[in-house]
This record gives sequence, structure tokens and C-alpha cells, in this order.
Amino acid sequence: MTQRGLLIVLSGPSGVGKGTVRKAIFEDDGVDFRYSISATTRQPRVGEVDGQDYFFVSKEDFEEKIQAGEMLEYAQYVGNYYGTPRSFIEETLASGRDVFLEIDVQGALQVKSKMPEGVYIFLTPPDIKNLRSRLEGRGTDSAEVIDQRVEAAKDELKKMINYNYAVENDVVDLAVDRIKAIITAERLKVSRVLDQIAE
Ligand code: 5GP
Repeated sequence: MTQRGLLIVLSGPSGVGKGTVRKAIFEDDGVDFRYSISATTRQPRVGEVDGQDYFFVSKEDFEEKIQAGEMLEYAQYVGNYYGTPRSFIEETLASGRDVFLEIDVQGALQVKSKMPEGVYIFLTPPDIKNLRSRLEGRGTDSAEVIDQRVEAAKDELKKMINYNYAVENDVVDLAVDRIKAIITAERLKVSRVLDQIAE
């Protein structure tokens, strides 16, 4: 029997730089885990590609997918739905390959309640002021949306206790190295290695 792949969840407050860190991780040609592309009802930003950055879908389509049980988790964030398609995760893990999710805190906690064996990594901002200036610097959101995102982030920081690892995102390359080190260490856990040997 093939050993199930490892589920790796990168999460943390919006604006902390999860997307930047995730992209930097996947820029490496040697990456040997698959990225779970989320579905969302928000509009694509300039340069975003459907089926690559997200599956951009209508609200009606998203709600149908929820009804059909096609979402492993979903959350509403600043007026839009975001969710993880279930079948990709299940098929990839069953085939023995590792999957990497980059999702918000609400979603990560839903996944954890269903798949507690996963590896849950919380990306932290150096501080809240820094988070606000990052959101402002991105220039993609109105002042009102930025206020909502900062308030949500303060609440989300309190949820860090539910995660296995906390990685500060001050210098992106350093955060990337630390996340890769966590993944390597998790793969080398005696319990996993023994399972592999037993196959
Ligand atoms: P953005 O609109 O900036 O791309 O994403 C907004 C927030 O939604 C970010 O915190 C991002 O990590 C999160 N997000 C992206 N995909 C998913 C998903 O599939 N599920 C959940 N719960 N959150 C997601």
C-alpha cells in the first residue's frame, strides 16, 4: 500500500505575505510537493491567471460546489468566498504525494478538524503596523478593506496556538528556508519513515 502523502498547510493573517512566501517556495524547480489551487469568487487581480493562481468562479458556482460537498473547507473573507477543492487533495494524498495549501486561518482550522495529522504552519507578521503598511503598499485594496483586513488579522493572531509551527515573515528567503526545513523534518519523523520501511 502506498504511504499517504503529507498535508502541509501554510496559513496566517491576510497581508502577512503568505502568497509571496508560497510563490518563492514554488519557484524552486526541485519542489516535490503539489500546490492546491483554491477557488474564489473575487475578481482576478492584474496578472493573475485562472487555473494557476485561483479557479475564479461565480458566487452561484461556488455555492453549488459547497452544496455538492466538493469543498474540503471554505471561508468568506471580505465579501468573497475562498475554498479548497476536496478531490485534488484526496487524490494527491492517496497517491503518496505531498500537498501544500495556502489558506486563511478560518479555513486552516476547518482542515485541521478533519485532518489533524497535517502539518500546520502559521506565518506571523513582525507586528501589526508592519501588516498595515504591507497591505497599503500592495495598493490593491481600499482604505476600508485594509481596515477590515487589519481587524481580522488581530483576531487571527490569537489562533496561532492551534498550529504546529510559527514562522515570522520578516525576510522572505529566511521564512522560505524555515518552511522547507519544517517539511524536511516532518518527512523524517520516525513514524513516517517506519511506515515507509514497512511497505
Ligand atoms: P487574496 O484575496 O489576497 O488572494 O486572499 C485573501 C485571503 O484568502 C488570504 O488570506 C488567502 O490566504 C486566503 N485564501 C486563499 N485561498 C483560500 C482557500 O482556499 N481557503 C481559505 N479558507 N482561504 C483562502
